[in-house]
Amino acid sequence: MASHDTTAFLDDLAGLLGKRGLLRDPDAMARYISDWAGDRLGMPLAVARPASTEEVAEVVTLCRRHGIRMVPQGGHTGLVAGALPEADGGELVISLERLNRIREIDPVNFTMSVDAGCVLDTVKQAAAEHDCDFPLSLGAQGSCQIGGNIATNAGGLNVLRHGMMRQLVLGLEVVLPDGRIWNGLHALHKDNRGYALDQLLLGSEGTLGIVTGAVLRLCPRPEQSRTALLGLPSVEAVVALYGLARRGCSDLLTAFELIPRRCIELAMEATPSLRDPMDAAHPWYVLMEVDATGPVDLDAMVEQLVERGLEGGLILDGVLAASEAQAQQLWQFRESMLEGQRRRGEHLRTDISVPISAIPAFVEAAGRAVTAASPHAEIIAYGHVGDGNLHFNVLPPAEMAEADKRDHLHDLEERIFAVLDDFDGSISAEHGIGRTKQAAYLARLSPVEHELAEGIKALFDPEGLMNPGRILPPR
Ligand SMILES: Cc1cc2nc3c(=O)[nH]c(=O)nc-3n(C[C@H](O)[C@H](O)[C@H](O)COP(=O)(O)OP(=O)(O)OC[C@H]3O[C@@H](n4cnc5c(N)ncnc54)[C@H](O)[C@@H]3O)c2cc1C
Repeated sequence: MASHDTTAFLDDLAGLLGKRGLLRDPDAMARYISDWAGDRLGMPLAVARPASTEEVAEVVTLCRRHGIRMVPQGGHTGLVAGALPEADGGELVISLERLNRIREIDPVNFTMSVDAGCVLDTVKQAAAEHDCDFPLSLGAQGSCQIGGNIATNAGGLNVLRHGMMRQLVLGLEVVLPDGRIWNGLHALHKDNRGYALDQLLLGSEGTLGIVTGAVLRLCPRPEQSRTALLGLPSVEAVVALYGLARRGCSDLLTAFELIPRRCIELAMEATPSLRDPMDAAHPWYVLMEVDATGPVDLDAMVEQLVERGLEGGLILDGVLAASEAQAQQLWQFRESMLEGQRRRGEHLRTDISVPISAIPAFVEAAGRAVTAASPHAEIIAYGHVGDGNLHFNVLPPAEMAEADKRDHLHDLEERIFAVLDDFDGSISAEHGIGRTKQAAYLARLSPVEHELAEGIKALFDPEGLMNPGRILPPR
């Protein structure tokens, strides 16, 4: 039951935001309280839906006055429970979904200014209308928001060519935890004035402030692209082929995805219209794409790479998309395999990185560690080879009782992370820390790093009300 203070807070909030801007009914709040996989549920005090930067600032000021904890929420596709409210009913979800304007596009400066609640797909379409490209691409792009992408420093499929969100943002507008608005919306490609405050906010997972606007860096829209799905005998061959592709395709390689045979099967299960792409099954596949503007012969580039791969025994077979529709069909395997995994129920999702050259040895060692502890578990290792970023996922043994799965998967995760430590890898290459990776993160933080991280949090949010308990424990 709401306390007297909470009731007064909600009354003030209702007066500020009106009916459209504040949700309190459990049915209306349903889609803000369950995570993407449906594994976890939270229960907020209410859901605030401000419609402008000024309204966000007023909501934050009100929260601060009443000592209410806040959870910024974008498209709610994050995978570490960062935007999921606690179940204690004490956190206010602040959804950015009504801040969804494309503010300005400057195709000469190759920049675009947007509200933080714009959905990534919308931003990409708006850029395309001006013959530009916003190159961030990920499976959740139909739902995730630019603010969420900034808060998580999202990566995705094209990082090897265009970098992560960190490289794609030139300026930010942020509501700080005390309600002040910081306007850092510069559209400058070079700017070396002191500390890079925007970079501190990138990847801060809503713990330092609420992003309300951003200036994004665009590129020219590709005029041509080529997509190929290749069958390979081993992870060693995949990494060797990546080396050839990086050297042979100039800097035009935009995606180089590792896909195990099991994922091709999961994709076909999830999307029955998909047919086995090659005559024979292969242990590993690479889905690669090159794109370019201007007079570049991409066909010759890809053909030469495939020839060299076949001659060297790295490639066993392959399909080259002959049209845009065929390319989309090949990409459908990559998208449907995620749905195929989701349908298998609760499973371990990791998001690790190692040096690219260490990928084969890591896959081998982590595979051995998992199989030794759980011989009937199923390993599904795929990912962005060019970033050294793997989703080394595990499906629990089919016969395992539901109630035992979570602890079992947690134990396997610790074993995988222990192997990762031997490779000096990262436990989070793109999804962030949130709440689910916090223990593993803290266990690996040096005292100096811990002190600096606590200091940054305390500087921005001395009262600890902005997304508390994410990245760092609550104070
Ligand atoms: C199918 C699928 C595929 C995915 N693929 C990738 C991938 O390839 N690469 C990748 O990096 N991620 C991937 N993700 C994870 C996820 O999509 C990204 O982390 C995305 O950037 C989250 O954006 P969002 O708007 O959904 O944020 P949310 O989930 O709503 O929030 C994520 C975090 O950011 C904070 N936050 C959200 N908006 C703001 C804001 N405006 N200001 C301050 N803090 C805010 C939240 O509090 C939370 O801590 C995938 C997820 C799914 C479901």
